[in-house]
Amino acid sequence: MKIACVGGGPASLFFAILMKRETPACDVTVYERNPAGTTYGWGVTYSDDLRDNLRFADPETARAVIDNSVSWGEWLVHLPERPGLVMNDEYGGYGISRHRLLDILTERALALGVRIETERTVTGLADVADADLVVAGDGAGSVLREHHAEQFGTEIEVGRNPYIWLGTTKVFDAFAFAFAETEHGWVWCYGYKYSDQYSTAVVECGPDTWTGLGFDRMPQAECLALLEKLFAGILDGHPLMGQEAADGTARWLNFRTVTNRAWSHDNIVLLGDAAHTTHYSVGLGTALALGDAAVLALSLHQEPTLAAAFARYERERKDEVVMEQRAAGYSARWFEELHRYIDLPTKQLLALLSFRHSSVLPHLPPRVYYGLGWTASKFLSVTGIRRRLLARVQRERLSQATQTR
Ligand SMILES: Cc1cc2nc3c(=O)[nH]c(=O)nc-3n(C[C@H](O)[C@H](O)[C@H](O)COP(=O)(O)OP(=O)(O)OC[C@H]3O[C@@H](n4cnc5c(N)ncnc54)[C@H](O)[C@@H]3O)c2cc1C
Repeated sequence: MKIACVGGGPASLFFAILMKRETPACDVTVYERNPAGTTYGWGVTYSDDLRDNLRFADPETARAVIDNSVSWGEWLVHLPERPGLVMNDEYGGYGISRHRLLDILTERALALGVRIETERTVTGLADVADADLVVAGDGAGSVLREHHAEQFGTEIEVGRNPYIWLGTTKVFDAFAFAFAETEHGWVWCYGYKYSDQYSTAVVECGPDTWTGLGFDRMPQAECLALLEKLFAGILDGHPLMGQEAADGTARWLNFRTVTNRAWSHDNIVLLGDAAHTTHYSVGLGTALALGDAAVLALSLHQEPTLAAAFARYERERKDEVVMEQRAAGYSARWFEELHRYIDLPTKQLLALLSFRHSSVLPHLPPRVYYGLGWTASKFLSVTGIRRRLLARVQRERLSQATQTR
């Protein structure tokens, strides 16, 4: 089988690895528009679930990812004129440089015999017409998906708040949430380390605050200087680093939530962000992209036809993805409605920050929701149990596949 993977992100590369490892005879090419070694973003977080799933899917990749990751054990919230506050009910996590992750996946793919063609922009199906299977792993703005938007039933919802993805040389010991008040409203940032030298900082604010502070027209250097001032309390004198746009302005964006009614059409199948995006405030997109890759590869190995494999892939992934997208949507909304929470007593604010994925919270006065603490924790634990069950089912499926090989 001849397979064309469009896009050289985590989804495509991991899928290429798993296909080539299981079926060395298949011909797999990854087409990436950017030059080798370049990518957007800084570091990505992940949890124990991804570690375990990677171990089952490809122990060699898992080892390299784990060896190149850093971890933290607690979350610290920083509010003006209040000392750093520990959030006990959030659990620890891991961070890895996006660059490093892509290097690891690229090295493994090449070692298995995958062809990787960089600086190759695929503009349409005609560019990969000789492939039996076309994997659209070309990210949230997928060209292949856009060409067949009607068949995929694509919907894109643009988030209200501008955000910017930055790096810093400040190495945060704990996952840091910082809120800064300005004369135009609140600006917040969350930061986490992804190596022993660098951390990521994602900054967000409401649209009125953004224009009020002049972020919409500021050159990048000026924007970073202002953000360094606002978040001086957590940066300890370290600089922020950006990836400026071609016109010299800072790369502020509005998050786009992508959903698709169908994940395949003819011989094209959507993978990772091309199929679905989850708001960055839950830090899950890469894990979901890698999970897609594992389940699609497994389905292709075990089902007799492309159509059967696509149907199984979609059936097994959609439940988890839809649930995570919904939770991520509520998390995004929590920040969009920060005015509801920010003036609450500290204890309540922290509790509601950790309940931000709740579908009930937006519909109740925050103090009432907090007062019904038992309901909230019950809801949260139901969600948590469901998540853990889905992760376990996924692991069992991957493990069965490993054992039957
Ligand atoms: C601010 C922010 C923070 C995030 N933090 C986290 C986090 O902490 N943890 C986490 O798990 N996820 C995080 N994510 C999400 C994560 O980045 C994505 O979900 C993940 O990268 C999806 O992988 P992918 O391979 O599907 O797509 P991508 O990583 O977007 O890769 C797509 C690739 O396709 C290439 N491409 C695009 N079009 C073409 C074309 N026409 N021809 C050839 N190549 C093409 C692109 O150059 C790119 O390399 C974050 C996202 C944002 C915006």
